[in-house]
Amino acid sequence: MRLKLLLPSVEPSMFEEPRVCPYAKCGGQHFHLRQEVPKPVRDTVYTEVTARRYACLRCGRTFRVYPLGINDDQTSRRLKGLAVLFYIMGLSYGAVALVLTALGHPLGKTAVYEAVQAAGAKVTGLRREDVQVSTARLLVAALGADLTSVKCKGEWLTVAVTTDALAGTTLTIDILDNGEADTLQTWVQEVATAVQAEVLVTDDADGFKTAADANGLKHQVCKKHVLNNSEAWHDTMQPELARDADGSLAKIGVTPEQAVADNDALLRLMRERQPTSEANAKLAEIHERYAQARSPKKLRQDKETLAYRLRLFSLDRWNLWQRLTLYRTWRGPHDQPLDGTNNATERAIGWRVKERYRTMRGYKRPASVLNVSRLIAWAGNLLDAGGADLAAVVA
Ligand SMILES: [Zn+2]
Repeated sequence: MRLKLLLPSVEPSMFEEPRVCPYAKCGGQHFHLRQEVPKPVRDTVYTEVTARRYACLRCGRTFRVYPLGINDDQTSRRLKGLAVLFYIMGLSYGAVALVLTALGHPLGKTAVYEAVQAAGAKVTGLRREDVQVSTARLLVAALGADLTSVKCKGEWLTVAVTTDALAGTTLTIDILDNGEADTLQTWVQEVATAVQAEVLVTDDADGFKTAADANGLKHQVCKKHVLNNSEAWHDTMQPELARDADGSLAKIGVTPEQAVADNDALLRLMRERQPTSEANAKLAEIHERYAQARSPKKLRQDKETLAYRLRLFSLDRWNLWQRLTLYRTWRGPHDQPLDGTNNATERAIGWRVKERYRTMRGYKRPASVLNVSRLIAWAGNLLDAGGADLAAVVA
């Protein structure tokens, strides 16, 4: 996991002039600086700063203004930022408290927890309702999507992640009620509509095919997934086909040599993924050869025959062909190519959701799942922009 995190700074001499009276309904804009008062702080550098006490000329009430990096809390933003940084790096809440104490900047476990959760809650975007808000500036031509699970209070939660498949950045991290087709469809629709996606990039799960079709999206199925399961299928079937193990090939007049050659040809096509009419014709030709193979139901038996399995598999690959080869011809609005994999989303899950989760025994609240994952994803998205400035999220 690569992250670059910038700590908030504390500048005891930098004050922002008050612009409007902090008291509700006053609206006063003119103030008198009454006095400067010492304020003890917990920080990695300072133990005390100066706060300014102003009086509002309209309502007469007084209020304090703190220097940069300090607020009415005793702990500075820098120290909270350091706690957040250690937590993101993999320490538990308790371990962060121990390390900070050892460094001479004691901060309790609860304070660490609160700092991390508050920072996560303050991350903007990265949730599906927010994507809608920013439609105008957030256009994503190719939307990567996938699900993962994390444990929370002994139960598995379905975490749904979307990415900009071209830029590689994380778009949304949400918890879904379940991973069922209807839920996927609504979730994909919500995000895809908001970002005006044209293409959906996923693994080859059927639910995603439905989600793409129902939402009028072009679909790229991860070539890596398809290649892996095509290779596994090929290697398992090859010895069986070579000896026509159940005699089903002979029944439809196909020699074992032909079946072996077809199995090889299918794998070759899945490896080459050339969107040509020859490839399409070859898939049709192979499937046609096994179209007569009968289903277990027709044969009144439990097991699918070799010939029937070839019939189904060749049909499945033929049906998959458009989704598998889309990336060969599709280009983004700035002529960017798709790489044909769902790697952007898999990385988002691995680095933003799972990496920190691996060192824990599960979450206690669903909100923590989202706070922590979004905080890390937010930082990850800013890697190429010079790093994530924790001052933006640390309260
Ligand atoms: Zn006032």
